[in-house]
Amino acid sequence: MSIKINAVKGMNDVLPGAVGRWQELEAVAREVFALYGYREVRTPVVEPHALYARGVGEQTDIVGKEMYVFEDKGEDRLALRPEGTAGTIRAFIEHGAYVDGPQKWFYMGPMFRRERPQKGRYRQFHQIGVEAFGIAEPAIDAEQIAMVQDWLSRLGVSAALQLNSVGDPACRPAYLADLRGYLEGHAGTLCGDCRERTQKNPLRVLDCKVPGCQPVLQGAPRLLERLCQPCREHFAAVRAGLDALGVAYRVEPRLVRGLDYYVRTAYEFTSDALGAQSAVAGGGRYDGLVETLGGPPTPGVGFALGVERLALILEALGRPIPARRAAVFLISADAEGAAAVLRLSSELRKAGVACDLDARGGKLARQFKQAERVGARFALVLGGQELAAGEGKLKDMVTRTETPVRLSGLAARLREVAP
Ligand code: AMP
Repeated sequence: MSIKINAVKGMNDVLPGAVGRWQELEAVAREVFALYGYREVRTPVVEPHALYARGVGEQTDIVGKEMYVFEDKGEDRLALRPEGTAGTIRAFIEHGAYVDGPQKWFYMGPMFRRERPQKGRYRQFHQIGVEAFGIAEPAIDAEQIAMVQDWLSRLGVSAALQLNSVGDPACRPAYLADLRGYLEGHAGTLCGDCRERTQKNPLRVLDCKVPGCQPVLQGAPRLLERLCQPCREHFAAVRAGLDALGVAYRVEPRLVRGLDYYVRTAYEFTSDALGAQSAVAGGGRYDGLVETLGGPPTPGVGFALGVERLALILEALGRPIPARRAAVFLISADAEGAAAVLRLSSELRKAGVACDLDARGGKLARQFKQAERVGARFALVLGGQELAAGEGKLKDMVTRTETPVRLSGLAARLREVAP
């Protein structure tokens, strides 16, 4: 008896017909990140649970509710990574990378959060993110934000940028105490989540989207107006940097991020094309985090972009999915032809020409059908007759016209007509 087994809820396959979009946005990311001096790091998808408890924060939804946690036999409590920053910092510290001065790293890969799946929100999703270590100056915040914009605009995507400062340990605690007091005073009109967060993580209350909570949140004290002098100066300099780089943004005093570690700069790119889950990328500064995770005091700033969401935007824009298709499909007319297509396909591939053939052989009509299915640009029938003449007919699969071609010059000809 056979049993059909489906993928885990909220975890998606990306099939060959759609993967070209992912490859395109990844390729553009690699190109742009290299232009800005970011180098790739690859870290495990499984890390000790303690890394996230400590690095992301026990009070966050991500660690408190959404992480996939398991016990390895006789080993530590482990977790599937819910985000990329903590693991990247763990690697940065573990390998002593800080001795080499400021570092710019990027990563790409799957993340796991047990959220309620909906459009743009999955339990396994993919992020492309960057971290710049060792630079406290606001110029790096601005440069990094400009890099996201550069990447998106090369893909033809325009996303709105919202910017905020969430203060630092010098100015935030006093503000949080005031905010908590204010929220407690209005607890009667806040939703259950907000009431819970008022105690655990009051900053996150500002992020609530429940309509009934909005009047109270509109009137809440604003951290931007309570920043200490160094935070104010940092924020002003990030803004000046963005202006100098020609990056448009809106200051959003209620923008907070779902992770505890942010200080000063917090930002988010959103797109109307996404519907409810409108955030495509988010980031900010996390100056104390390397130290919290056992490294030397090292400032840091980074962002992560959701690949599925960027792919959804490209789809909504009607961007065609790029794909490399066979320049020519070799079709065998008889036994001699069958041997010849194998030989010729090998020669063409060595010459860098993408080609395909129907390894089943058989009727011409079926082979032509397969040529169409794989989207080959041309088809060429080979049999004893063509081999004897050293010439065949190159059939254009789009215009349906045929032109004679010398078999010896096939690779060069195809590079001209189907580059
Ligand atoms: P975060 O790590 O929460 O700051 O998220 C950064 C980006 O990752 C977001 O802007 C989204 O584009 C993406 N993202 C976060 N959570 C999910 C999810 N559950 N499914 C798909 N994308 C996500």
